[in-house]
Amino acid sequence: MERSTIVRVHEGLHARPATRFVKLAKGFESDVELVKDGKAVSAKSSVKLMLLAVKENQEVTVRANGADAIEAIEALIGYLENPKAGLDDEEAHAPANDAGKEAAPAPQSAPAASGDASSGLRGVAASEGVAIGPAFAHFPPDLAGQGRMLQPEEIAGEIDRFRAAVGAVQARMDRALAQDSLSAGDRGIVAALRDIAADDSLTGEAEKAIKGGNDAVSATITAASTIAADFSAVDDHYLNARADDVHAVGRQICLVLLGQDDVSLENIPQGAILIADDIGAWDLARAPLKRIGGVVCGHGGATSHIAIIARSHGIPAVLGLGDRIDALRTANEVALDGNSGQVIIDPDAATRADFAGRVEAAAKERAGLTAFKTVTPKLADGRVIEVAANIGSLEEIEAAQEAGAMGVGLFRTELLFMRHMHLPSEDMQAETYAALAKAFAPYPVIVRTLDIGGDKPIAGIEFPDEENPFLGWRGIRMCLDRPDIFKRQLRALLRAAVHGNIKVMLPMVSDLGEVRQTRVLVDECAAELKAEGVPHATFDLGVMIETPAAVLIAPALAKEVAFFSIGTNDLTQYIMAADRLNPTVAKLNDVTNPAVMSAIELTARAGVAAGIMVGMCGEAAGRPDLIPAFLEMGLTELSMSPASIQRAKKTITAMAAGK
Ligand code: PEP
Ligand code: MG
Repeated sequence: MERSTIVRVHEGLHARPATRFVKLAKGFESDVELVKDGKAVSAKSSVKLMLLAVKENQEVTVRANGADAIEAIEALIGYLENPKAGLDDEEAHAPANDAGKEAAPAPQSAPAASGDASSGLRGVAASEGVAIGPAFAHFPPDLAGQGRMLQPEEIAGEIDRFRAAVGAVQARMDRALAQDSLSAGDRGIVAALRDIAADDSLTGEAEKAIKGGNDAVSATITAASTIAADFSAVDDHYLNARADDVHAVGRQICLVLLGQDDVSLENIPQGAILIADDIGAWDLARAPLKRIGGVVCGHGGATSHIAIIARSHGIPAVLGLGDRIDALRTANEVALDGNSGQVIIDPDAATRADFAGRVEAAAKERAGLTAFKTVTPKLADGRVIEVAANIGSLEEIEAAQEAGAMGVGLFRTELLFMRHMHLPSEDMQAETYAALAKAFAPYPVIVRTLDIGGDKPIAGIEFPDEENPFLGWRGIRMCLDRPDIFKRQLRALLRAAVHGNIKVMLPMVSDLGEVRQTRVLVDECAAELKAEGVPHATFDLGVMIETPAAVLIAPALAKEVAFFSIGTNDLTQYIMAADRLNPTVAKLNDVTNPAVMSAIELTARAGVAAGIMVGMCGEAAGRPDLIPAFLEMGLTELSMSPASIQRAKKTITAMAAGK
């Protein structure tokens, strides 16, 4: 029995989704396989599933054979089509790939090239920042098996020994996972390693080798190399990096078999630069990360787990030096630049002073800013300024909270629609908006209704060919013409409003009628939900001010809505008649142009006069040079990318102090 579908799992069946899929599959007695391009693998092995390299929007078939085949197919197809459904809160909020995908954007990779004496070596710039410190060389000896063939009567005992070792490694990883001190990102990484340790692929391959007469250590080394080679051969950088994880797990099993402890990173001195050919993600996640000043490795790349751990802990790292790492084995001091990939061995006095200065400046700026994470910025007159985050997916919640966001000032819902080959259901949207509301309560979460047009078409909506899509059928215009789509979103928002402080805003408004028509639809949706007995709550309705028309009718609009949010990205392009994507008119696309600034001021004045909140969610909201002017105009909310939040809070605080 089988059924085919299109995979809707964002980023495909990478580590965490593969684990979840396997967990579901293991809940059924039937044999279950996943088939892609004619290749079938067991749906109960996460390693095999990952190696199938299933990407989002690819067609796959789930095949099941057994007493509960129908239920298995239903559950697994359900997961592939709607992966967030049925997850608990923690899972639903976890990054889709927290076992692997970016904790922060990776700096540009520098091509590996041997350097000269003055510039040092160059590797992959894997985690930004500069560091200088004493070298801490970490080159654990290679492990080796017994090098003799087992007698037939020894085989059963060796398999038992191997299984016990695997059990011990799993138990150790389980203990690590149970520690509260592990961050969410590191937890995902350790969980992925544990999956590899628990997966039949590695253990099955090793047991096959033991049955062939190899001792358990040799068998584990061979099995890990075979599976790692499979990961290296896949055309996917992320999966290539999993090869290192397989080696790391294999090494842990071998160490237990040999009764050895791994060379520990426990004693790394404060601020030292960790030098290694390779560091297992498992070792690094357990290391005293606060003491590590930087990391330089022969192995690894921008998507390896070492890079991800380094980035999420703010440790500068240069990876992928290959054999050139040997030159660092005897170094006393190392300087590295995680932005350019440069590594300098035993720097001279001038280089040392240069790096020390850069490290100090960066640390000062960072330390100064983190102090603002929990600050609630207030102006001298007592006005609280809400500094909120612009996000487009649940995966960004953690970064926004880490930065100290006071809610969400713009949730772009387009991604929700673009990630799927069909329009997202009301239930799926309601779950997403509710998850957001819960995550930030009691702060507000402002959800922008679908803002899409012919330049960014999505499946399920037929867009006409247009000469000027930016002046065409987009945003609120399209939504009002397609009440089937719009009402589904409004119903989902009314349902989610039960769970927190949801506000809703309309994009591209240029006419009062658009607000009034929306209100009619909102009332209709509320009446329907009431009749159906579905819990729901009202929300504040606001508009984005991003067209010249909206600015000019702002006093009238202000009487009909609960708030304004100024979208300076579009407002600038429409006021200046300069396409925001066209580099030849980029000079005109300038928010500081007096024409745009006076449009912002007119809007603020109209909002303040009507007593409604005026905020801003365009890029300009995060600019420290413009924030004072916006606040003087009367804005009380600024929403920006999470990376700008602490600097903005600092600017506002300084302004209040008259600095
Ligand atoms: C804007 O136009 O300023 C805005 C925030 O919306 P977007 O960038 O998504 O068009
Ligand atoms: Mg816009």
